[in-house]
Amino acid sequence: MLQDNKDLLVHTLAHPHHLPQTETFTLADGTKVQLPDVGVMIIEPSRPTEQDVVLSAGVHGNETGPIEMLNELVGALLDGSLPLRSRLLVLLGNPPAMVAGKRELEVNLNRLFSGAHQQGDTAEHHRAALLERYVRDFFEAGGEGRARYHYDLHTAIRDSRREKFAIYPFRHGRPWRWQQIDFLASGGVETILLSHSATTTFSYFSSNEFGADAFTVELGKVHPFGENDPARLAAMKQQLARLLAAQPLGLEQVDRSRITVFDVAQVINKHSDDFAFTFADDEANFTPFPRGHLLATDGGKAHYVVAEEEAIVFPNARVANGQRALLTVVPVGSDQPFE
Ligand SMILES: [Zn+2]
Repeated sequence: MLQDNKDLLVHTLAHPHHLPQTETFTLADGTKVQLPDVGVMIIEPSRPTEQDVVLSAGVHGNETGPIEMLNELVGALLDGSLPLRSRLLVLLGNPPAMVAGKRELEVNLNRLFSGAHQQGDTAEHHRAALLERYVRDFFEAGGEGRARYHYDLHTAIRDSRREKFAIYPFRHGRPWRWQQIDFLASGGVETILLSHSATTTFSYFSSNEFGADAFTVELGKVHPFGENDPARLAAMKQQLARLLAAQPLGLEQVDRSRITVFDVAQVINKHSDDFAFTFADDEANFTPFPRGHLLATDGGKAHYVVAEEEAIVFPNARVANGQRALLTVVPVGSDQPFE
C-alpha cells in the first residue's frame, strides 16, 4: 500500500503493470490522495486552489534523474513537509520501461499523443491513451479559468553543450510567455527551443488541447537509478515546490541575459534504412554547423544546413522510418511574438 510506505517510485516499480488495488486516502490536513492507476497520482487540497499542475517523468523509462526528483517532491507532499496549494496530477510515464531500465519497450511513447496512439497496439500505445485520459479528466475536473501547467521532465541520451533545455510546444500563433521562460530559467533551464509545428509529444498535447503552459524539459544526461547527482536538479525541484505551494517564484531576480531562445529551424525525419549522419555518433547536442554543411543522407536525399549556422539537437539515426531523426535550431527570429 502506498498509504503505508509513501514512496510512489518504490510502489510503481513493484507493480509496473497492474495496481494490486486502487487507493484513496486523506492526509492530516485533509488533502485527498488518489492512486487510480499504475504511476498515476492525483493530490487535491481540501481548501480551494487556483491552479492545476501536471508533473510527468519517465515517459522515457530510463530517464531516472527527473523521476527521482519528482518522487522526492511527492514524498515531501505526502509527509506534510511541503505545502500544497494546487491541484496536482503526477504521472510516471512508462513504468514497465522504468523497470527494464530502457527508454521504451517497443516504441517511443513521446510520439504517441494527440491521438497518435490510435495507430498501433503496443503497450506504449495503450499507455499514451491512458495518460491522455488522466490529463483530460484532471484539467476538466478543475474547470475553465484556472492556471494550467504541465512540465514533462526528461533527460537526454547524449552529451550537450547546454546541459538543460526546454522545448516550447507550437502555440499556433499565441505569444510565447516570458513568465514561463523566466520560471524555467529560475530552475536552471536557460535554453529554450520554440517549436513551429504540431507534434505528437505529451507537452504539445496539454498545450494544444487544454491551453496549459506546457514544456518538454530536458534536465541533463541519463544515468541509472541511484546514480544521479540531486544537486544538479535542486534548483528545478525548489521552483516546482514553490509553484505547488503557490508561493512567490522570485522571477524578478532572473537574469535574462543568461537565457538563450532558439527557433527550431529544421525537423528532419528519417525515411529509409540508409539514413546516416555525417557527424560522429556521439556528437553533442547544440553542436553548430555552417551553411551548406551536409548533415545527413537518406537514400537519395541529402539534408544540408540552410541558415547561416544551425545547431543539432536530438540526433538519433536509429529511430523508426517516418520518425524524427534530428532537429536543428537557430537564434530566435525578431518576428516571434512574446508577452
Ligand atoms: Zn526523454
